Amino acid sequence: MNRVQRQRTLWRVAFFVLFILAPPLDLFRFDLDAGHFILFGHPWVLDIRGADALTASMNIILRAFLPIAFVVAGGFWLSWKYGRLYCGWLCPHFSVVEMINALMRRASGKLSIWERKPLPEVQSDGVEVHPQRSAWLLVALAVLFFSFLWAVSLLTYLLPPAEVWANLLHGTPTRNQFVFISAATVVLIIEFTLARHLFCRYGCAIGLFQSLIWMGNRKALVVGFDRAGASACVGCDKSCEHACPMRLQPRQIKRKMFTCTQCQQCVQACERVNEPEGRVSLLQMVSSQCALNVSERDFGRRPEVPESCFRQPSTDEQ
Ligand code: SF4
Ligand code: SF4
Repeated sequence: MNRVQRQRTLWRVAFFVLFILAPPLDLFRFDLDAGHFILFGHPWVLDIRGADALTASMNIILRAFLPIAFVVAGGFWLSWKYGRLYCGWLCPHFSVVEMINALMRRASGKLSIWERKPLPEVQSDGVEVHPQRSAWLLVALAVLFFSFLWAVSLLTYLLPPAEVWANLLHGTPTRNQFVFISAATVVLIIEFTLARHLFCRYGCAIGLFQSLIWMGNRKALVVGFDRAGASACVGCDKSCEHACPMRLQPRQIKRKMFTCTQCQQCVQACERVNEPEGRVSLLQMVSSQCALNVSERDFGRRPEVPESCFRQPSTDEQ
């Protein structure tokens, strides 16, 4: 695992833990019983009942409009500069997607049941996976566990977490809690088994929001392909494509990588392919003027890009 992937693992684990613990720690949740949000242990209420017009307006601006505007503006800025960074580096759904992909490959040789051909058992980037049918048990356990955990966690964003967890531990959930957890678990089992990255690609509004904004910025961070070294691809089995959890072709133009999550798995794969030959990865993250070479090819243009967009071996080895 290279440095970027180690960092990404830390971010994803930390955010997943935060996703589960935010309601029990009262960091963020909506309390249906009380009818308001809880933020960092305090009720997040507008307090406009009985208030005079000025106080009510100020409360709406300070407690509703500004926080929402801040979150939307922050999300817009991140997506504008870095695309679907949230998906690849934080999203607790995508973390489960990648984990189940890996287990499914151990079981079937494919990252999803919809793929026609299994991936090579030994890849050019050194990844070696020999499928074993017994790994299906691990797939089933992981799908069940994460679907249930997700369902319970979603409920704790709506009802007092202490009550939800205590009822579960004592085996006495209320009827509504039981119905919610059962239904959400079933839906998530289906989604984690059959859809996973397809949901990320076609069904997630947060992902779509980030992708659309990212597409508007031709200089945003993007996976760039050093075409000058393309001959190195001849002997390679497209390890970069095998590594992509979104099942994209990372050497393509930006428009065809609309749903790229900036996970950089493809970059790591290419690094591993080329390292033994003393070459650097042909796939590298580029931005600013260098990103135009990926973005503007969409429109058939050949933009002027600096010569030094890609790291070269001599620089890398220093
Ligand atoms: S870009 Fe790298 S990993 Fe992808 S096919 Fe070429 S050499 Fe292989
Ligand atoms: S193209 Fe590369 S960076 Fe984008 S999702 Fe696929 S592996 Fe991740």
